[in-house]
Amino acid sequence: IGRSAHYDRLLALLYIDLDRFKAINDSLGHEAGDQVLVDVAGQILRHRFDTGALYRIGGDEFAVILEDLTSPEQAAEKAERILQACRRPLTVGTREVVITASIGIALFPGDTQNPDRLVEDAHAASKRAKKIGQDRALFYSEQFNAAALERLEWESDLRKALRQREFHIYFQPRVGAESGEMVAMEALLRWEHPKHGRVSPDRFVHILEETGLIGAVSDWLIREACQQCKALQERSHPGIRVSVNVSSMQLLTHSLLDSVRSALAASGLAPHCLELEITESVLVDDPREAAATLDRLKSFGVQLAIDDFGTGYSSLHYLQHLPVDSLKIDRSFLVDLPESPDQTALTETVVTLAHNFGMLAVAEGVENERQHAFLKALGCDEMQGYLFGRPQPLAELAAQLDRTSSPADPRRTRDTGKPAVRG
Ligand code: C2E
Ligand code: CA
Ligand code: CA
Repeated sequence: IGRSAHYDRLLALLYIDLDRFKAINDSLGHEAGDQVLVDVAGQILRHRFDTGALYRIGGDEFAVILEDLTSPEQAAEKAERILQACRRPLTVGTREVVITASIGIALFPGDTQNPDRLVEDAHAASKRAKKIGQDRALFYSEQFNAAALERLEWESDLRKALRQREFHIYFQPRVGAESGEMVAMEALLRWEHPKHGRVSPDRFVHILEETGLIGAVSDWLIREACQQCKALQERSHPGIRVSVNVSSMQLLTHSLLDSVRSALAASGLAPHCLELEITESVLVDDPREAAATLDRLKSFGVQLAIDDFGTGYSSLHYLQHLPVDSLKIDRSFLVDLPESPDQTALTETVVTLAHNFGMLAVAEGVENERQHAFLKALGCDEMQGYLFGRPQPLAELAAQLDRTSSPADPRRTRDTGKPAVRG
């Protein structure tokens, strides 16, 4: 608590109480009961992944302390994983035993500032969880229970979304700084929720990651993006590239390599026409593992870009050794260009850095002509932003390109009134 208070961070105490443990002791004997405790603890340790320690605080009661949380929902997510771990059948002697747990969650500083109260609150919540039916986790505060419930609903909606074809891909053009012509397009995920309408990826991509659904969704997305890019190449734009966002979690699993390989094979897209955008954070969290995966991807011939560059803390030392082809300057650095001296210096530095490492400098979030002219003068190679076109379905993008390539066209997009891409 001292540490969390000092760093102003959220901490959760999970009070784990096994359900019907007494029945196991009574029917199978104490020795078997001891075995169950050891095995359940082992399951939790194996499935809880990262952070926090597991404590046994009495008979069939355990506790987990989670530090550094970003939201109460994260605690609920971990509690759910622990429940899953407990549910896995155990073998005691020749018998198979299934055990469940009731978990109570108390938060610092949300619920209390007092260590003893934290334990009491978590314990009280676990009793409530047991009373309303076991095998579940409850927060001490009702307010967080409502949020966790909402989160569970989002999760189950997301599970259905892929099957029910609620995901779509929008493509946003990227232009060459000199030519002003479209050289690539970024594939951006869209979700049409049956009840809530269009939901921003910022709201659900992290849920996909935390639940492991991201693998299936991005497998679909990469395949679809490659196919659509190939179609556009054959229709009117040979050589056009497509870039796809890859979440940090995916990079650390091997399924990404398979997704990429099979998407390229199925679509017939040339590997150098596929680019993967990777966020900086993954390079910081696990640089060695990330570098190994990037090397493997690179060996397929695909292009690699670091997305949102400048927002994380990647070590320049690593950057030098990574097989990366371009740096995407985060759009937050562009908002006040060219007036802000700080943003100007930062952008200039990133462009120079990219070039010194033999990479392309790409700017995103370019919204007006002044930013455009300034970035061009800095030597930025490619640009993306509302100025050149909004993310849109491929059919609309292709139609826009057709219109703007006809000489009679005023070179304006229909919906934004901004100058359009020349393709
Ligand atoms: P990002 O990769 O940085 O994508 C660029 C975001 O900036 C997009 O938001 C795009 O619509 C927006 N944008 C483009 N031009 C401009 C501009 O001129 N001005 C402003 N203000 N914004 C602009 P979007 O589509 O909502 O995506 C948000 C984020 O969600 C993306 O940020 C990316 O991190 C994530 N995301 C989107 N699709 C996927 C996906 O398929 N997989 C994964 N893992 N993440 C995705
Ligand atoms: Ca991106
Ligand atoms: Ca970005």
